Amino acid sequence: MRAVLIDLDGVVYEGERVVEGAPTAIQWLQSRRIPCLFVTNTTSRPRAALVSKLAGMGIQIRASDILTPPLAATHWLARFAPGSAALFVPAATRDDFAGLTQLPEAVDEGAASVVIGDLGEGWAFATLNRAFRLLMANPDARLVALGLTRYWRAAEGLRLDVGPFVKALEYASGRDAVVLGKPSAAFFETALESLGVTPAQAVMIGDDIVGDVQGAQGAGIPGVLVRTGKFRESDLARGIQPNAVLGSIAELPAWWAGHH
Ligand SMILES: [Mg+2]
Repeated sequence: MRAVLIDLDGVVYEGERVVEGAPTAIQWLQSRRIPCLFVTNTTSRPRAALVSKLAGMGIQIRASDILTPPLAATHWLARFAPGSAALFVPAATRDDFAGLTQLPEAVDEGAASVVIGDLGEGWAFATLNRAFRLLMANPDARLVALGLTRYWRAAEGLRLDVGPFVKALEYASGRDAVVLGKPSAAFFETALESLGVTPAQAVMIGDDIVGDVQGAQGAGIPGVLVRTGKFRESDLARGIQPNAVLGSIAELPAWWAGHH
């Protein structure tokens, strides 16, 4: 093991509260110069906002230490679908697509890719139909999803997330989306590439036995489950075998030392 991938929500913090011992564990990794990448499916906040949130918890990292779906999508598109990308994402996350050639709004053809994020209130028939037309105008255009979450719980009730809109476009266009978020292997492969390690040289720490542990294992990366965040005892009876189960990320240094 040479590098660590760490989920944020539920591992380093639970909502606005830092997980006890997380800052010390991360400082331990930093002092040992163990390459560390924070991997999150969060697309509602740009990386800079996550950096300041962590700083407020006593954790000092740089924006480049965080991999989000927009970042993974930017890397993936540069490699597999160069050309103009049509972005259907909230304004707040556009900053995370720096370096990507963006198709101007209101243009109905010429996209090499159509990127779908959680646009929320920004969706209207015309918006979704524009994404559909862009796909139909170019048989080679790639449909890229920043996750496939079906819905989420907002203060006023349940709300559709990105998944249903991606599925609508897949159904209409007959094309399969490339998903760049956990648990997709393409997302974990982007993380490994940015760390410069092989799957077996890395370890993924997460609180979601499906998105983090099973997703990482699907990409050949050992997956370690923590008993914080969304963890429930019943997760261990779902037929997915974590490579280790820790009380929290605070136990990571001792666990790591036992493997070196
Ligand atoms: Mg999590």
